[in-house]
Parts: sequence; structure tokens; C-alpha cells
Amino acid sequence: MDNNTAATVTAETLLNRIFDITQGLYDEMQQVAKSAEDNHVRIYHLLADLGRVLVNADRCSFWKWDKRRHKLVTTAAVGEDQIEIDEGTGLVGKALSTGKAIMTNDPYHCPDFNSSVDKETGYVTKSILVMPIIDCKGEMIGCYQAINKLDDENGFELEADCKRLSLAAFICGLTLESDMFLDDSQRDKLTDIKNRMGFYSDYSSRYAPKLNMAGNVAPISMIMCDIDFFKKVNDTYGHNAGDAVLVHVAQTLKGSIRSNDGAYRWGGEEFILVLPEADLKAAAQVAERIRSRIEASVIHFEGTDIRVTMSFGCATLSPRLTAEQNIEIADDRLYKAKATGRNRVIMQ
Ligand code: GH3
Ligand code: MG
Ligand code: MG
Repeated sequence: MDNNTAATVTAETLLNRIFDITQGLYDEMQQVAKSAEDNHVRIYHLLADLGRVLVNADRCSFWKWDKRRHKLVTTAAVGEDQIEIDEGTGLVGKALSTGKAIMTNDPYHCPDFNSSVDKETGYVTKSILVMPIIDCKGEMIGCYQAINKLDDENGFELEADCKRLSLAAFICGLTLESDMFLDDSQRDKLTDIKNRMGFYSDYSSRYAPKLNMAGNVAPISMIMCDIDFFKKVNDTYGHNAGDAVLVHVAQTLKGSIRSNDGAYRWGGEEFILVLPEADLKAAAQVAERIRSRIEASVIHFEGTDIRVTMSFGCATLSPRLTAEQNIEIADDRLYKAKATGRNRVIMQ
């Protein structure tokens, strides 16, 4: 009888802890639209916490497979900072490549275990369970991982613990999938920088709130730029060569700005850069640096050397204007740069 009561209390306590977290998830879902945080960061942390409670593990983390960068990245980890490893490595890589849950209660004798994270952090992994996550098309997108079973000397039990973890893993999978769809829709496939939709998303979540912040004095500037006579590149060297030029230009733009700045393909051969904490003069200096880099560079495409130049219009964003109105000012200056001979920067 006593044992039964104890078991009931334990189950109830456990359920209450789970419901605390699921309520947190629900509350967070209501808040997500209002927060400036990208990609459900808090939700991933709650889901890592949920996994810990479900299987009584010391740590849980959720790994996202970044196919673009060929890396596995922890989207949320309880008890550790974000970690990045090469794809195909460790038990996470193994679970992803085989599509099967994998478990070991003796990791240091397991050939697939990647001990580099332990070596770096000083943490000692004693047991580990990894479950692969697939999207609605059946493609692997990430893994849910639990480390160090707390209450059981024998470590994890594959079937029973996978069953328990499936609640957290399932919600994690859906959340990651929706984040990935959003990221994809905001990225230009050719140049791999953000597209117009990405611009508007960043404008409303990152730039506009800063512009409208009470007492804000830090300017945000914008550079609009366009490749000169690009039609001629396509006509002379072919569309694939034109594509190679676009990739080169996007890389040059990205490589010429700070990590906090934004680079976007506005459309065709036209790009926008947004520079927080840069006044008009600073933006014009950045534009001039890029202009001369582009002018000096050569694009090698199938044995042909191609050179292009670009024209630039700079403006400082006004909090009193809409995104479109601010763009129009930069666009007018870009037009001026075209009309006055191209391959130049106009700032007024
Ligand atoms: P300007 O100096 O006035 O900007 O002249 P331009 O020739 O660069 O401008 P125009 O607008 O006449 O031509 C732009 C060209 O860009 C036409 C279009 O076919 C080409 N273009 C747009 N998107 C792509 C793309 O993704 N790949 C390639 N190869 N070409 C593209
Ligand atoms: Mg052009
Ligand atoms: Mg154009």
C-alpha cells in the first residue's frame, strides 16, 4: 500500500512537472510573435527541459542539421552553451545517417562516441541516447539527445526511454521544421543571402524597433546597389556566367560588412545592405570600399575573365518613414548614380 502511494505521488509529481513545462510552452507560443527573438529559442530550451524531466537525464539537447554549412548545431542545450560539430561525427551523426535511435551506457568504449565535447568542457558522459527527427517529407532534420541517466545505475533503456522522450522530440521536430521553412522562404537560393522577404522580416523585427526606441540616437543606414550593365554580361557570356557574377557580388557584399549588418538580394541584380550604428558618412565609406573591391575583382567563369562595376545609393533610415519610403530615398540616389555615369556612390 505504502509503495503504491509512493509510486502514485511520484507519478503525480512527475506529471505536474511536465504540465508546468507544457504550460510554459503554451505561454511562450503566445509570446513568440511579440518577441524579437528568432526561431523559437525559448521553446527549444523548454523542450530540452521537458526531455530531462521525461527520462530523468542530467542534460538534454536538440541538434539541428545545418545542411548548408554541413554542421550539427545544438539549437537548445540544458546545462551547456551552444555547440557545433561536423556533420557525420559522433552518435548524433550516426543517428542521422542511419535514421535509427542509438544508445550507449559505456560511451568511452563506443567507437561512434565523439569525446571532443567532453574534452573541451570537462563534462563526463556516462550514458547517452540519441533519437533522429524527420520532417514531413521523411528527411532527417535533427536529433534529440539525452545524456546521463540520473536515477539508474544501468543507464538508459532504449525502448522505454525513447517512448518517453518522443513527446519532447515530436514537438521539437515540428518546431524545427517550421523554423526551417521560414528560413528557406527568406533566403535566396542562388546567392545564399537573405531575399526580399528576409529584408522585411528583419526590418520589422530588428531595425524598426531600434529606430523607434525612445531616446535612441544610433543611426541605421542603408545602401542600395545594382550591377552596371548586367544585361550585357548575360548577353555576352550567357546566363550561367551572369549567375556566377551574382554569387561573387553577394559574397563580396557579405564579406565587406560587419556581422551585425544585413545583406539582402532585393531582386535581379539589385542588393540592399543595412548598417546599424552607421551614419550616412560611414555608410558611404562602406559603399565606396565595396565599389572599389568589385571594380578591382575578376570573376573567372569557364575560362573567361569577367569584370563588372556597381552603382550605390546611400540613405540613413528615418523612424518617421515606412520601410518603402526609406528604400525610395536610397533608390533615388542609386538612380542618380546610374544617371551620372554609374560605378559611383551617391549619398544625397
Ligand atoms: P543598369 O546599369 O542600368 O543597371 O543596366 P542593367 O543591364 O544592369 O539593368 P537591366 O535592368 O536592364 O538588366 C538586368 C538584368 O539582370 C536583366 C535580367 O535578365 C538579369 N537578371 C536578373 N536576375 C538574374 C539572375 O538570377 N541571373 C542572371 N544571370 N541574370 C539575371
Ligand atoms: Mg543593373
Ligand atoms: Mg536593376
